[in-house]
Amino acid sequence: MKIAVVGTGYVGLVSGTCFAETGNRVTCVDIDQTKVDKLSNGVITIYEPGLEKLFQRNLKEGRLTFTTNLAEGIKDAQIIFLALPTPPGEDGSADLKYVLGVAKDLGKLLQDGDYKVIVDKSTVPVGTADKVRNCILESGKAAGKDISATFDVVSNPEFLREGVAVEDFMKPDRVVIGSATEKAAKVMGELYGPFVRQGNPIIYMDEKSAELTKYAANSFLATKITFMNEIARLCELLGADVDMVRKGIGSDERIGKRFLFPGIGYGGSCFPKDVQALVRSSAEVNYHFKILDAVMEVNEAQKTYIIPKIKDYFGGDLTGKHFALWGLAFKPNTDDIREAPALYIIDELLAAGATITAFDPEAMANVKQVKGNVISYAENQYKALENADALIIATEWSEFRTPEFDKIIGTLKSKVIFDGRNLFDLSQMQKMGFYYMSVGRSVVETQ
Ligand code: NAD
Repeated sequence: MKIAVVGTGYVGLVSGTCFAETGNRVTCVDIDQTKVDKLSNGVITIYEPGLEKLFQRNLKEGRLTFTTNLAEGIKDAQIIFLALPTPPGEDGSADLKYVLGVAKDLGKLLQDGDYKVIVDKSTVPVGTADKVRNCILESGKAAGKDISATFDVVSNPEFLREGVAVEDFMKPDRVVIGSATEKAAKVMGELYGPFVRQGNPIIYMDEKSAELTKYAANSFLATKITFMNEIARLCELLGADVDMVRKGIGSDERIGKRFLFPGIGYGGSCFPKDVQALVRSSAEVNYHFKILDAVMEVNEAQKTYIIPKIKDYFGGDLTGKHFALWGLAFKPNTDDIREAPALYIIDELLAAGATITAFDPEAMANVKQVKGNVISYAENQYKALENADALIIATEWSEFRTPEFDKIIGTLKSKVIFDGRNLFDLSQMQKMGFYYMSVGRSVVETQ
């Protein structure tokens, strides 16, 4: 099939590459000329395990091309995916200006008789498929065309997780297709056939249910994490160990083991904005989604909840203190720093008069772009420890999990670790003589 993907970010580039990998001819469209130039020249623009190999292969074989020209990109395409940003607007609702802007452009470009399926892959509020359809029709009408029989709009939310995006895309747990017509559903079914050969379902539904499915999934997962973060706080107050509680409840298959790890809050480009958007969508139909209000409040506080603990440890004053910060990305195996808890920690520490040297295997360039040189960046995790009064861990990269402790001890000014991701064993830390504070577990006080 010939496919166009409009928007070549985390979702667009992964989807486009994976569709090319199954033999389709894919053109990715983006308004960012620098990005398109880089990609066309074989330079990948995001870090995502396993993506580079697929990207290079399909680029070389001519199945994957890039352009800034929408008309050229959609020419001959049977399916046009919209993988555009849907950031939170001022009131927290999803801002549809990118999606509807492209819909308007498509209305001008579609030609009667040249049937195309237009697919919302962006995470969008319920009712967006209708808005996209109307927008295309209106814009076609303004150009003097009746294109009502020329296209269908389908909702096909994306469930990939950054860090394992290729695996998620190539072998999805399920594919959700919201379509009002059988014709469009059939085209989508053919496209996704190769991805569900192991028997995972393609679930067909109406567009509104598909749109809500995505928000419901992300909001549920954000709630699960947040619930565990509250249990962790309670553990600290009651003297229980959240690791034990986690194992205790996770082995109940009704609850499940995943998404039960407490920490310094969820971040990223999806959970924060999608929870917010669902709360706004609910408010628009006069429904107060109370659980999600609480989730947002708890998560906001969780991102910086270790700061008062750090202050307490240093007698209330961080002026002149220097910290090593391991991890900047919102989670491991990605360079995405959108809403990353580390950024909030940086702001609070700097405001308190401290200085920071950070290390992250992939995300330092992105942080440098938004924060510049207000902090220093180290070339490796151990260099970051030089002259530091303590180490703070904000992302659970695997290389931080079993570090060379003798190097940490030999480099840090004193053996103090604030671990926002519960990477280390308490008894091991005690044996090595660390002051070690983690989330929902007792503090190791020995020094
Ligand atoms: P992104 O910001 O990484 O990428 C969006 C791309 O769209 C950018 O490259 C931008 O330059 C481009 N763009 C903006 N306006 C354009 C236009 N008019 N024409 C062409 N390109 C344009 O965003 P993302 O993380 O890929 O997310 C895209 C959508 O997918 C969002 O709705 C998001 O919620 C959803 N989603 C994201 C993830 C994820 O893990 N990142 C997972 C599932 C769903």
